[in-house]
Amino acid sequence: MEHNIGVRIPPYVYAVTDALERAGHRGYLVGGSLRDLLLGKTPHDYDLTTDATPEEMLAIFSAFRVIPTGLKHGTLTVLSEGQPIEVTTHRVDGDYRDSRRPESVSFTRRLEEDLSRRDFTVNAMAWHPVTGLVDLFSGKADLQNRVLRAVGDPAARFTEDALRILRAFRFSAQLDFEIEANTLAAAGLTRTGLGRISAERIFGELTRLLTSPAAARGMRGLLAAGCEAYVFSDTVLGVNDLEGLDALPVEAPLRLAFLLTGNTVDRVRTLCRTLKAPNAFSDGVCGLLAALETPLPTTPYEARRFVCTHWHCFEGALTLRAARGEDTAFAAEVCKRVAKNGTAIEIRRLAVGGRELQEQLGVRPARTGALLARLQDLCWQDPARNKKAVLLALAAEIVKKEKDFV
Ligand code: ATP
Ligand code: MG
Repeated sequence: MEHNIGVRIPPYVYAVTDALERAGHRGYLVGGSLRDLLLGKTPHDYDLTTDATPEEMLAIFSAFRVIPTGLKHGTLTVLSEGQPIEVTTHRVDGDYRDSRRPESVSFTRRLEEDLSRRDFTVNAMAWHPVTGLVDLFSGKADLQNRVLRAVGDPAARFTEDALRILRAFRFSAQLDFEIEANTLAAAGLTRTGLGRISAERIFGELTRLLTSPAAARGMRGLLAAGCEAYVFSDTVLGVNDLEGLDALPVEAPLRLAFLLTGNTVDRVRTLCRTLKAPNAFSDGVCGLLAALETPLPTTPYEARRFVCTHWHCFEGALTLRAARGEDTAFAAEVCKRVAKNGTAIEIRRLAVGGRELQEQLGVRPARTGALLARLQDLCWQDPARNKKAVLLALAAEIVKKEKDFV
């Protein structure tokens, strides 16, 4: 498993470990990058840990461009051949008073101490270019068995930092690993600590979980540990069709809408606010839920209305309905056609504008929007009507019959 790691690490990483070695220090590959290499995957970034202190690092890397990312916490980003490598002094965390962040960090020359403060065994290995793998907690065996296990006493580790509970579900989803029984039980026992984790961090872990290959598995862990209220507040989760989650397009708003189908748009908007989700995310989820409340279109007219009303999410809404077993083939075909051929006419594409209605027919400003909507509906029924003369004539008829427009 580990034999070919050395040849798969790019030269720009060795440039950094070599600089440390030349100065009499050691640089180890750690964390997710080592885990991913051992799994045969290509890491998205490379993290190193070293016995050199931050000040020593600054001297050692004086020939490199460096960014003092978190120097107080021992982290320096070294640009090696233009690639950022995070190098962190071996650390031990200070007291965790509030299940959130350590009160302080202190540095240590001992790699073992650094590794033992890490969250899961598969994340707590280190690898040195000459001496090879350091695996104090049987992380390699857990990787082979596809098990996520807390380092040390799981309840103590989750009490120190409750974010690790959510990280467990997220890694279970990303790696498609089973959460080891004691680790899962401890997550349930210590879950109240999640009440002190910031909304941004919860949201970050949630979106990563949802967009993972085994999202359903991560969700099952979260539910098994009874953590749903800390993430989803008082919304009701569609837990019976969790299985459908993994087959959906990898889009967090779509996948969240899938789980939250049946909740009111208001309630889901409140949840997004609680999670401090970006507006675009919240609009995405809520737009989908609103589209799901509209019946499936069965005619070209209904399809035009549906596409125009839910312009940004009609495709997602159809995908969600199909995922729930509805026969959407006809509706999807018609919606796609009317969206493409331009007959799903938006208000701004009508051949008359509000000003013309006001100037030529004396329509009151307050009623102009309503009249345009009526004309739009008439065009959805028959797109050939979208001509200035035709629409003005139709508008004149409406205005004559229904006095409140002028
Ligand atoms: P990813 O692929 O998502 O980056 P990662 O394992 O690299 O996965 P990071 O959040 O980048 O995860 O953290 C890097 C390493 O730092 C982890 O592998 C783990 O060893 C350690 N770590 C990160 N966060 C925690 C935490 N809250 N508690 C303990 N150790 C942590
Ligand atoms: Mg990482």
